[in-house]
Amino acid sequence: MSLFKQPKIRTRFAPSPTGYLHVGGLRTALYSYLFAKQKKGKFILRIEDTDQTRAVYGAVENLLQALTWAGLTVDEGIIEKNGKTAEKGRFGPYKQSKRLKIYQKYAQKLLKTGQAYYCFCSPSRLETLRHQQEQAKQPTRYDGHCRHSSEEEINQKLKTNQPRVIRMKVPENQTLEFTDGVRGQLTFNTKDIDDQILIKSDGYPTYHLASVVDDHLMGISHIIRGEEWLSSTPKHILLYLALAWPVPNFVHLPLLLNPDKSKLSKRQGDVAVEDYRRQGYLPEALINFVALLGWNPGTDQELFSLAELIEKFNLNKINKSGAIFDLKKLDWMNSQYLKKIAPARFAELAKPFLQKRFPQFDFNNQQIPLAEILALEQTRISRLDQLGTETEFFFNAELTYPPELLIWKKSSAAATRKNLTLLTERLVNCPETDWTIAKLEEQIKQLITANNLTNGELLWPMRVALTGQAKSPPPFEVAMILGPERTLKRLTIANKKLAE
Ligand code: GLU
Repeated sequence: MSLFKQPKIRTRFAPSPTGYLHVGGLRTALYSYLFAKQKKGKFILRIEDTDQTRAVYGAVENLLQALTWAGLTVDEGIIEKNGKTAEKGRFGPYKQSKRLKIYQKYAQKLLKTGQAYYCFCSPSRLETLRHQQEQAKQPTRYDGHCRHSSEEEINQKLKTNQPRVIRMKVPENQTLEFTDGVRGQLTFNTKDIDDQILIKSDGYPTYHLASVVDDHLMGISHIIRGEEWLSSTPKHILLYLALAWPVPNFVHLPLLLNPDKSKLSKRQGDVAVEDYRRQGYLPEALINFVALLGWNPGTDQELFSLAELIEKFNLNKINKSGAIFDLKKLDWMNSQYLKKIAPARFAELAKPFLQKRFPQFDFNNQQIPLAEILALEQTRISRLDQLGTETEFFFNAELTYPPELLIWKKSSAAATRKNLTLLTERLVNCPETDWTIAKLEEQIKQLITANNLTNGELLWPMRVALTGQAKSPPPFEVAMILGPERTLKRLTIANKKLAE
């Protein structure tokens, strides 16, 4: 055992509450969660809601619901308690909008040490500047106009309460290095970094200041986030250095891509976790799928439970290249999980989906053996919202199909009616105890032989009469599930249809 206390592993997921949890966000949260759990550390949820123009009502609740559904339990920060959001932990508040004074304090500190400055430039001046830079094909950035204002000038403007922001005084022409957990060692020069705003004119901090202050004060050891934040990292490192704080570890996860390699976007498909939930993906499957977007164990294993992921996940083995979000793979994975779950849980999950598809059907007052239908479905579907597409004949009281569909190949309406009558007569006399798949099959096959018929001449109209479809599970199985009463009724209706 080491004599030294190992630094505590603390990771965080720090979403902005935009209304839903993006699948990319789910992956960030998952990797942060897996790493923390593996190292017996803590997984923290912080809400980055300093952009008041983007605040969405109910967004935090939605986020938490999605995380809870996915099985990612938050140890600290914003948590769900009795269906409501609450705070847990000694580094709160965990919502940035409640920490404004803290950010002010550090901005003031940076002003005092000469590492930040007030900027009074008007939006119109900045707009003109940007326009000129664009015209000259230069990078658009602040030109440092207020960087060297005299103290008197500044005090004068402060006294008259002129609108202002606080900017970082980025050191000139310094080379800095940092190591990213995925990209390795990266070098940057401060001359490429803008004097970024730290405190906006409304007194709110920018993302840069708020996230650095919070990551430090909340003791975050590993910042795991999407690659889109990589370009912000040099700015963050400068802030850590300016505040004389230790720089945490950074891990930037590869982009998620559509199969055509474009950036995963709403336009090409669903991106919200709740959309996947609504379509009947299981949380275990979605988590398993998302875990493999950017990481793999280096073996053939494809199915992992959350516990296995905690054990096998390796932060040092994350890919650099973008990960393709392949829906076909997700469907396959989901079907694997659906097959494995116990019938009772499957029934529980299936009912709301079936009820939605068949609003008229009374699932509480069971007219049909639901368990048997579900057993047929469980091995065939890849999403719960596909339930009932091929078995709707069980749930609909009346079937709609063209009468001609009942007629087998070269057969005729009259012959089909005759065969349906034969079948009805046989089944009317079938004792209740013989109404099993095997016995039904035996009796009907006997009937076929005794009347010199082909299988198609009898089984085809039987299938169509019972299901209204050309393709279905085997007709004996359907008859067994429908039971004598509904089977006979459907045979009679079919017979009548052909007579009309
Ligand atoms: N609030 C940022 C987001 O919405 C978090 C970026 C980070 O993790 O630093 O994704």
